Amino acid sequence: MPSTTVQWVTHETLLIATAGDQTPSSKIAAFDLDDTWIVPKSKRVHSKDADDWKWIYVGSPDKLRALVKEGFRIVVLTNQGGLTNDDKEEIFRTKVENIAATLDGVPLLLVAAKGRDHFRKPRLGMWEYFATHLNGGVEIDLSASYYVGDAAGRPNDWTPGFKKDWADTDRKLALNMRVDFHIPETFFGNQKTPPLPLLEFDPAVYLESVVDKAAPEPALALDAAARQQQPDVVVFVGFPASGKSHAALKHFVPNGYVHVNQDNCRSRAACLKLAEQSLQNKSSIVIDNTNPDRKAREGYVALAKKYGASVRCLWFRASLDLCNHNNAYREHIQKADHSHVPDVAFASFRSRFEEPLVDEGFGEVIPIDFVPQFESDAEKQSWLMFHF
Ligand SMILES: [Mg+2]
Repeated sequence: MPSTTVQWVTHETLLIATAGDQTPSSKIAAFDLDDTWIVPKSKRVHSKDADDWKWIYVGSPDKLRALVKEGFRIVVLTNQGGLTNDDKEEIFRTKVENIAATLDGVPLLLVAAKGRDHFRKPRLGMWEYFATHLNGGVEIDLSASYYVGDAAGRPNDWTPGFKKDWADTDRKLALNMRVDFHIPETFFGNQKTPPLPLLEFDPAVYLESVVDKAAPEPALALDAAARQQQPDVVVFVGFPASGKSHAALKHFVPNGYVHVNQDNCRSRAACLKLAEQSLQNKSSIVIDNTNPDRKAREGYVALAKKYGASVRCLWFRASLDLCNHNNAYREHIQKADHSHVPDVAFASFRSRFEEPLVDEGFGEVIPIDFVPQFESDAEKQSWLMFHF
């Protein structure tokens, strides 16, 4: 077998391998790597070493060679978040060099996303980097290009005896790329593609469902005259990234409410202290924390009672998937300051959550739906992509 020289370069958290002739093309045949081209020989989930892999379909290299003859450029876009140290990266590099050797001259461009950032599938960063910097300025014909991957969100027994997919990120990537999507069993094998189920969270479907709904009413903040009579306590409840801080800063703070927020106060005790000081000064307050359960909320209800304030609960009902979407969008696309909310914050809210009820002492519990607001069409198009 002739040896194939693989060149490696890095760009930020990307690892990029090229082998053979790198002629740009408008037609891109893009692929996932693991469980699409190759599987571990050892039947483990992940390769144990650089030799622990095999082609799933022995005919794949010939198929790829035929695609190159048809003018396609072969590109692999693979998430490799497991390459957390130099040893693991070295094993991966050697494995890719071994794969390239079996391709026997078929030109290969492989881009691996090592980080959990905007390059990671289903986010578009890896593809955009390729299209902008690695294809010689040749415009890509999306209608002629496609992506092939195994993470399609198929349920158990999508074909009798086949396990469900562990994820749907490859299918979402293809949707973000606006290219056709194929499963490896059809592309390289001869299985029929089953009807693919609806994605669990589709931002376009969500946006359509709230198109007629209003965002939190500005009128929810009592005006100065009303608050002079009686200070107002507003307790928020909702996942991180459900729109709470946006509502607090847009509708309540400009109306003179004191913003009580764990990010600023640092602790629960400090939040309660600021709340009490504010009520002593006859200032209204908005409690912009997740406040998942009755216990988290009762201190504020008690303070309202003590100082003769009205107290209402605004329940931001956005689902976990929607909030994960918003969170990933803010962190990786908008690159907002208060970016990273750890997964544990979502899990903790979900496990502690108790639906807010009037009998906790609230004058009212007001459900709020998340209605995305966009400043431009570009921002809207970006929010509509799959971000997690
Ligand atoms: Mg895969």
